[in-house]
Amino acid sequence: MPNDFQKTCQKCLTNYDSALTSFGKLKSSKDGLRSLCRLCRSVAEKESYIKNQAKRLESGRKYREENKETIKENHKRHRENNKENIRQRGIDYRKENSLELNERKRQKRISQLEVFRQREAEARRKNKDKIKQNNKKYYGLNSQAFKQRSNLRRFRADQATPVWCDLALCAAKYAEAKRLTKETGIKHNVDHIDPIAHPLIAGLHLSNNLRVVTETENRRKTNSFTPYRIDINGNLTYFTKEELANA
Ligand SMILES: [Zn+2]
Repeated sequence: MPNDFQKTCQKCLTNYDSALTSFGKLKSSKDGLRSLCRLCRSVAEKESYIKNQAKRLESGRKYREENKETIKENHKRHRENNKENIRQRGIDYRKENSLELNERKRQKRISQLEVFRQREAEARRKNKDKIKQNNKKYYGLNSQAFKQRSNLRRFRADQATPVWCDLALCAAKYAEAKRLTKETGIKHNVDHIDPIAHPLIAGLHLSNNLRVVTETENRRKTNSFTPYRIDINGNLTYFTKEELANA
């Protein structure tokens, strides 16, 4: 290397044999090189970057603090000027991410079930009259269908009730459902084990064809019929899919 020489770093005081390779260039200096070696320069630059970053962040925070109102106004104006865009962007986003958003919503509800339930109950209390009105309106619009369904249900139950039915025993099952609903806070229904309205079988309205189940369970069943057996002690077990396949 031509014109190379020895040079000492002003910071770490290391004496380098090759100044040209160990120091960065600086035209304005006497020997055309920096006074700090490359290693010290690199450390110093990193330090200054971090120091200035902290300063930049701090000054930004200060600016936002001092110009709170102006910034708020600007944001508001921006939203007003771009109302349609922002609305559309929101719609697009929710559409594209609906699965994920719904799942997130579901998880949140599960993790704070009590809070959500209380909030919902509060909303129902607050909008009691409105809900009542809506229900009334809905019932009014669909009253024929409601009446038909209720008549049909009664007709089927009547038809399925043989003369030897012990109505008191049946009533006890309904009382049991009512009691469980009250005690657990979970809605319980009385279900006909053999459906009384089914194209293939005709269950009867007898107390031993009645069982108390949660409403969710009952709705899931919706008139489907699974063959079952009753053992000598009167315990009911359903045939499994495998057993049915092998039968
Ligand atoms: Zn150095």
